[in-house]
Amino acid sequence: MIVVFGSLNLDLSVAVEHLPAPGETVRGPGYGVHPGGKGANQALAARRAGAAVALVARCGRDAFAGLALAELRGAGVGLSALAEDAAPTGCALIAVDRRGENQIVVASGANEALRAGDLPEALLGPDRLLLLQMEVPPAESRRAAERMREAGGRVLLNLAPAAPLPAETLPLLDWLVVNEGEARTLAGHLGCRDEPAALAARCGCSLLVTLGADGALAVAGGRRWRVGALAVEARDTTAAGDAFVGVFAAALDAGRPLPEALRRASVAGGLACTRPGAQPSLPTAAEIEAALPR
Ligand code: ADP
Repeated sequence: MIVVFGSLNLDLSVAVEHLPAPGETVRGPGYGVHPGGKGANQALAARRAGAAVALVARCGRDAFAGLALAELRGAGVGLSALAEDAAPTGCALIAVDRRGENQIVVASGANEALRAGDLPEALLGPDRLLLLQMEVPPAESRRAAERMREAGGRVLLNLAPAAPLPAETLPLLDWLVVNEGEARTLAGHLGCRDEPAALAARCGCSLLVTLGADGALAVAGGRRWRVGALAVEARDTTAAGDAFVGVFAAALDAGRPLPEALRRASVAGGLACTRPGAQPSLPTAAEIEAALPR
């Protein structure tokens, strides 16, 4: 089983002619309301790929919570460890201009209140894979990782969005997943080269680097693997990384060998690029299966 300890948001997006300058008001014709947050997106990606998934998160006691949870509920993501908080449900305010450039303001809300203690004992154990991102307090993610490791489970962290990682977190990780920008930021913080083998050695865990339209690579147990990207017409790359991470975790959880897990994750990331939005673009197990290179 995969246990996601992470964020839950509602995304409000408005298409505008141009992005507002400070003090300026711009008007758009309407707006979209979409469930989001990296924790929720990755939980859904893993669930759609066929894994049993529980999400440990906090939401507000407000109308946004129901909207943020709708897709997860429908897909059968376990929500028994979801806690309500006095703070509002996390919310991202997104403006997108004609050229696809965006401006995003995120109100963390209840995500800031998530605590390692929210992770129930029942979700810890040797057959569990804890999936972490960087949208909830890093010290709480570290403590959650400690608890999962003490119980004999595995831990995968996706360093997104890029942020400093507490030094004590690294030794708790089995897997670290970064895109190229996050790899550079991490190498800067750690004072090492951003070359994957050097970074993996410094981190002391297995490392996955996603390379956008060039696929991904892994450094694990002193070996290196490379996977290409699915040949697609990319329409919207939102949540490509979330699809990749969720599906990679689902494959690891199912006991698939690393090269196969990489292939599935890369196909899922590519499929997510062919469809607009975040959660609606996450592929199902059957879609991944059908698109796997023969
Ligand atoms: P992020 O979305 O976190 O920045 P990437 O851009 O590296 O991460 O994308 C994650 C994965 O999605 C890639 O490893 C690849 O498998 C897939 N992907 C991303 N962009 C494309 C693309 N243009 N064509 C095909 N696959 C893509």
